[in-house]
This record gives sequence, structure tokens and C-alpha cells, in this order.
Amino acid sequence: MTSLFPALTGGFADRPALRFGERSLTYGELAAAAGATAARIGDARRVAVWATPTMETAVAVVAALLAGAPAVPLNPKSGGKELGHILTDSAPGLVLTAPDDQLPEPVRALSRLDVDVHGTGTVPMEPADDSTPALIVYTSGTTGPPKGAVVPRRAVASTLDALADAWQWTGEDVLVHGLPLFHVHGLVLGILGPLRRGGSVRHLGRFSTQGVARELNGGATMLFGVPTMYHRIAEAVTSDPELVTALTGARLLVSGSAALPVHDHGRIATATGRRVIERYGMTETLMNTSVRADGEARPGTVGVPLPGVELRLVEEDGSEVAAYDGETVGEIQVRGPNLFTEYLNRPDATAAAFTADGFFRTGDMAVRDPDGYVRIVGRKATDLIKSGGYKIGAGEIENALLEHPGVREAAVTGEPDADLGERIVAWIVPADPQSPPALEELADHVALRLAPHKRPRVVHHLDALPRNDMGKIMKRALAHD
Ligand code: ATP
Ligand code: MG
Repeated sequence: MTSLFPALTGGFADRPALRFGERSLTYGELAAAAGATAARIGDARRVAVWATPTMETAVAVVAALLAGAPAVPLNPKSGGKELGHILTDSAPGLVLTAPDDQLPEPVRALSRLDVDVHGTGTVPMEPADDSTPALIVYTSGTTGPPKGAVVPRRAVASTLDALADAWQWTGEDVLVHGLPLFHVHGLVLGILGPLRRGGSVRHLGRFSTQGVARELNGGATMLFGVPTMYHRIAEAVTSDPELVTALTGARLLVSGSAALPVHDHGRIATATGRRVIERYGMTETLMNTSVRADGEARPGTVGVPLPGVELRLVEEDGSEVAAYDGETVGEIQVRGPNLFTEYLNRPDATAAAFTADGFFRTGDMAVRDPDGYVRIVGRKATDLIKSGGYKIGAGEIENALLEHPGVREAAVTGEPDADLGERIVAWIVPADPQSPPALEELADHVALRLAPHKRPRVVHHLDALPRNDMGKIMKRALAHD
């Protein structure tokens, strides 16, 4: 494989690359800064990056990739215990920081290098071997302690090129970015993606619907967000004409990291005429499926396998789901150049994650529509409820609950039940805390829309759902309430 970032050396010198707030770098300036940082990284075996949403982080990661030292992005908000686990597990030789970072003790104790975004160096030869690790990214920890996925250069290149094909993504695109930089979504798609294409990124620092409107109305072409951001957009479009104009004019609106509620998809479509497209991926596999830019954005689906990705659904007995009938549920398994190579220091978990024929077991359950569109029903571990002899996905019940005017947010879990095996439990944030909808009413609402056996048997009212920094609902925390 040749370069991950051909635009760094390929005649793009005066074109914009990155902008964070008031600070921006052209490709020429980025090449100089990343080249200088890469030279200082030297032959460190592995480097951690204190991944604040700043220019320094973007330069640091590009520099590490150029130097061939896998980058380990650290979540600056992670608590001492998680940070300690990640630092011990990944044992970085160096941590890349920004000059004004406030660093906690375990990071200060490491050997540090402040990134100079105005540094001047030359772009080194990148590693030629595409199996060289590019990144070690820790999973979100939604279902257990985060695991370090070793992501090779091949996976980064192939996933970004597959998305370029699916999204008609080019160097002309300008991305609006409001996500953190320590997960695949914000870092690989949001920073490395535009840089690989020769396009540019404008990072908002902190997401706001006003920021999205300003950038899309000011020349940006695409927006990547998580469902909580699209929820805020869905709430704001009714009273913000500038946001409506911005979204209507955007080339592409993409959602991922968790399921986009059908209700929010519908509200945005009604107000703007634009359909948000969903893609599905994970730390271990980068991107697996997406609705294509020229395809139908069907609410509640994550589209079709990306070019180069083999995807199959497998039932509990190990047999492959042959029918594309929109009903038969199986675990999503994937194989392709997009996969990670291993979990760092976890040969047991790595071995358990792969099948004998090299497919990765995602732990996500899905059905396929007759034309191949994948519909995720939820995670095997937390979202599949076995009740009264049925296997019920939490997602469709959550979607149905969100259609109720009295429900602002909803999560569904199962809990042991003497008669049913498991019973369906709804956790809702009421639209009006003074008059939350009663169990009976919600149960009827769900039974009417889906089926009687899918109605919740218990309802809990909460002020907010427990979510992580990507807005993912932490169902483990709910179940223990
Ligand atoms: P951990 O593996 O540590 O429990 P995690 O699985 O949340 O955490 P990530 O790798 O960041 O860590 O997230 C990948 C998961 O996110 C997928 O397995 C899937 O469950 C979910 N996901 C991603 N995109 C979508 C989507 N468009 N729709 C539904 N779920 C999605
Ligand atoms: Mg996971």
C-alpha cells in the first residue's frame, strides 16, 4: 500500500485541510507540522494521544501514522480507573499533548511531547506493509470494560475508500464535525476520512445546532453525527429556519454509533425534505454497512454491506440465515479488509471473537429486508429479550415508545419473569415530568403498533437515560438501578 494521505504530498499544499474554531491548517501546513512531529516521535513503538477536540490531536494522529507508531487515542474525560487500565494495557512509550492541556497524574507521569501545529518538517516515508498497526482504539465500554482493538493501516484505507464509494465522497466535500476524537466515528471517519480524500473538516469544538447551521450555510457539504445530535436537530428544526435551510442544502447527512430513532428520522425528513442516512460499524471492524448516497434511506435500516465487506447472519445453531424476509434474526458476522487484527493483550477475547473461517462475531443481531438492507434489532447481550417463547428486539419497542407524544427518550430491557422467562421493561424520560404516561397507556400504544406480546410490563420514569460520551445508552447501568 502507498500513502494513507496522498494529499499531504500531492499538490494540495494551498488547500484547506483542518479547521478548529479560529485555527486552520492547509495541506501544506499540515504536512509540515505532522512531518515535524513524526520526526520527534522517532522510533517510539506506540504513542498515546491526549485526544481533546483540537488541532493538536489531529496533527498528532496523522504524525503517528506517518511515523509508523500506532496511535492510542485517550478520552480526556475518562475517569482515573479507566485511564489507568488503558495506559497499563497499551503501555505507550510517549504521550502526545497540546501545550495547554490539563493532564491528570497518570498521564503527567509519562514521557510527553507537546505538538507544535506550526512546526516545520517533511513528510517521512510511510510504512509499506498494510498490516502495520495504525491505531489502537478502545471500544466504548458499552457492554464491558473497553478492549483495545488493533487496527491495521489496511483497515483504515479500505474502510475510507469503501465509504467514498458509497457516499460519493470527494476532495470537494467539507465536513462539519462535532464529535469527540477518541473513537472510530470522530477520528477515523471524521478526521482521517476527509484528509484521505483531500477534502476538509471544520470541527465545532462542541456540537450545537447553531454551529451546524452556520457551517452548512457557509459552504460545508456534509455532517456526521450520533443519534443524540440528530435528536437535538429534530427538536430544533421546528423553530430554526436557518437550520432548515442548512440541512436542505447539505449534500449528505450521516448518522452512526447507535440506532437513529425512526421518530427523529421522520421529523427531520418532514421539516427539511432530507433523509439522514445511517451507517453501521464498530471499533473492531470500522465500517460494515451503509445506506448509499444514491440509495433509498429507509428509516430503521443501516443499508447494505460496503464494497469488500462480506456479511452474513448466523442463527444460534450456527446455521446461516438464508432468507431475506425481514423477519429471521441472526447475529451479524463480517469478514473483509476492514477488520482489526486482535484485541491488545487479550488472546482469549480475540480467539472467541472470530469464527473458524475468519468472520468476526459482532454481537449485533439483525434481519435483512428482501432487497438486502440490514435492519439491526439490537445487541445480543442487552437488547434481545426472550419473553413468552418469542425473541424480541428492544429497538423496535423503543422506536414505538418514542412515537408516543408523552415520551421524550426510551430504553427497553428484559428482566427475569417466572411466567414469561423475561418480561419487557421500559425506561422512559417523560416529555412532561408532571404527567408521565401510565403503563397501561404505553402498553396499549406498543401492542397496537407492533404486537401484543411486545408490550412493556413495567415502566420506570427517569430524568435522563444513562449515556456515554457518544450518547449511547448504557443499558448495564439501567439494569442495575
Ligand atoms: P463495547 O464493545 O466496549 O461494549 P461498543 O460496542 O458500544 O462498546 P463501539 O465499537 O464504539 O463500542 O460500538 C459499536 C457498536 O455500536 C456496534 O456493535 C453496534 O451495537 C452499535 N452501532 C453502531 N452503529 C450503529 C447503527 N447505525 N445502528 C445501531 N447500532 C449501531
Ligand atoms: Mg462492542
